[in-house]
Amino acid sequence: MHLHITAIPEGYKIISGEYALPLVILSVFFVCLSSYTAITMSLRANNDSFINRYIWTILASIAMGFGIWSLHYVGMLAFALPIKIEYNLVLTILSIIPAMLAAFFAFYSVNKQGTSLKRAVYSSLLMGIGVCSMHFIGMASMQVEAKHTYNVVGLVIAVVASFISFFVFSIFYTYMNRQFVRVIIGIVMGICISITHYVAMLSMKFYVQNDVVIKEHVITVVDRYNLALELTILLLILVSFLLSAIFADKYVEYRAKNYDPHTHLPNFNIFEKRLANREYKQIAVWHFNEWTNINQQFGYIFGEAFIKKIAAKFLTFKSHNVDVYRISQDQLAIATKQGGKMFEVEMRELAKKFEYPLQVRSEQLPISVACALSQAKNNIDPAKLYDNAMSIFRQSPSYKQQVIIYDETVHSSAFEEELEQDIVTALKQNELYLVYQPKINSLKNEVVGFETLLRWQHSKYGFVSPAVFIPILEKTDKIQLVTDWVIERVCQQIINWQKQHLQFHHIAINIPGNYVTSQNLVGVLDETILRYGVLPQQLELEITETSFVNNVQEAIRAVELFREKGYSVALDDFGTGVSSLSYLKQMNISTLKIDKSFIDDIPHSVKDASILRGIIAIGESLELNIVIEGVEIAEQVQFIEEHSIKPIIQGYYFAKPLEAEQVYSWYDQFNQKTSLTV
Ligand code: C2E
Ligand code: MG
Ligand code: MG
Repeated sequence: MHLHITAIPEGYKIISGEYALPLVILSVFFVCLSSYTAITMSLRANNDSFINRYIWTILASIAMGFGIWSLHYVGMLAFALPIKIEYNLVLTILSIIPAMLAAFFAFYSVNKQGTSLKRAVYSSLLMGIGVCSMHFIGMASMQVEAKHTYNVVGLVIAVVASFISFFVFSIFYTYMNRQFVRVIIGIVMGICISITHYVAMLSMKFYVQNDVVIKEHVITVVDRYNLALELTILLLILVSFLLSAIFADKYVEYRAKNYDPHTHLPNFNIFEKRLANREYKQIAVWHFNEWTNINQQFGYIFGEAFIKKIAAKFLTFKSHNVDVYRISQDQLAIATKQGGKMFEVEMRELAKKFEYPLQVRSEQLPISVACALSQAKNNIDPAKLYDNAMSIFRQSPSYKQQVIIYDETVHSSAFEEELEQDIVTALKQNELYLVYQPKINSLKNEVVGFETLLRWQHSKYGFVSPAVFIPILEKTDKIQLVTDWVIERVCQQIINWQKQHLQFHHIAINIPGNYVTSQNLVGVLDETILRYGVLPQQLELEITETSFVNNVQEAIRAVELFREKGYSVALDDFGTGVSSLSYLKQMNISTLKIDKSFIDDIPHSVKDASILRGIIAIGESLELNIVIEGVEIAEQVQFIEEHSIKPIIQGYYFAKPLEAEQVYSWYDQFNQKTSLTV
């Protein structure tokens, strides 16, 4: 029984060929290498890569097609028949096309649709067809006196092997992120493709007419010199493919690991490395307070667009010998190797850029940022510089486009802990005291009230600013204790002033963030005013937007309750926090306090002037009292008076915060001055 497709006719004799083993091994090596290269490149199509997925798939199919093709021809060159063999150049070149096409569709299909069994079978069939067509077109390109026939069993094995070659890839597709799996599958694929070729070849019988003269010794088809040259070129092409794939691979990996994809800035990994080997002298860490809110309100994609806009502003400083990093979602860092004051000046300039709302897509977003700047004294390790900058954030700095410079006494954690522990004794020993800053209706020349501000003369550290100790206390419940103490002292003071015939519309008390919604606060207020005989109308509660970022509904209810009871409520530092206008509509506040940052550059800044005008107009249209904080010069007073119906001004222009005893003489002086001007 013969299993050959065509029987060998009468008058013909079989001739047998021989293989040069080193070339066979080389051909198998080629195809394994190509398979590995193709796998690596095709997987790139799926990763978040900077080269288009189709390009990766095309590169993969070129590598695969090339591998199959080179296996075939190196294999054929390794094979020698005792007769003359030539190749048809056009067919030889064309034979690569089906292999590449099949590889393209197979890789594309698996990468795009994933690997169900059906998909695996389908793409493996495609690849099988590609491998086999390559082989048969390759055989057709052979111009030889001999005819050939195939052994059916061998042919079946070859076809099955070509199917398996891609089937293993599809089945193990999900494990391909591991290098060793890629290597093994590359080898298995290479071997299967080699089996396809060599089994097909072995199953072939070449036969010639009986009268053809057979030379005793096997004739090599081409001379060895040419063969070596061609093989070297093939190998070089393949290796360069592999190297470029690996290089691109590594580069993409490196970028993904070390660079932020949205801002393209180096991330914390690079920052960390450079801290270890660059001699940074100054590091500024910038924190953007709105990040979380913006993400919640507009979604994360918008959040990234927001950071991208911010990064663009940072990059204008690139020329000044600085490195910019995105070290976390909402923090950017700028570092420089230069010492000196220039960097600080630049950081302050940069902070100013965030005073105006930022346009992101169609939204105008107000921004509040804090910059923690740490400067090297002597030879300080840059990593320590970074730690120092970060310790400023532990104390929740105010986000008013502020640049805060690291100060060892104030920002070390030991200092923080000490303040926290000292507060109770400080209250008892009168280290804490209150000062009062007048608020004046400038058109009527009338003192409408005072804002109460805390001061701490610390036994060890001397004067500590409320901007430092309040955020520290706010992290614990101690701030509530202090607020209760302030309420008590203010009520006491109101009664003292009354006894001296000094009566003001109201005295304002700052109520810290989460105390606003606490049940305790209303109780303390009611009980204290009752005890001293103060009316609720005599108190104004200054709350900030931080008190309602966590729970708007609760804050709205709390404000409503205060107003029902007769207290007035001011929204402090308007314009620096989340500043949503919708809060203004929902909250039943009585007063809007516009933050100092909006007045600072008046009258010079046209932009600030129009923003301030706008805020005043909105506030007045909602029938709120408008207080403008931080007014220092006559031009600012004039501007406010021109643009407001009932301007209330608080600032150094009229008075710095005064101690209770100073209030009497100041008030006298104020009345004298105004009666002269009236
Ligand atoms: P704030 O409530 O916005 O108080 C206004 C701040 O602006 C005060 O700073 C005041 O002294 C300052 N200021 C007013 N007019 C001018 C001016 O014309 N020029 C300049 N440069 N500054 C002016 P201070 O007293 O240092 O307080 C800072 C912050 O600390 C306050 O901001 C408030 O958030 C907090 N704070 C102060 N006292 C208390 C308190 O008793 N309780 C609570 N929870 N926070 C307080
Ligand atoms: Mg205030
Ligand atoms: Mg304020």
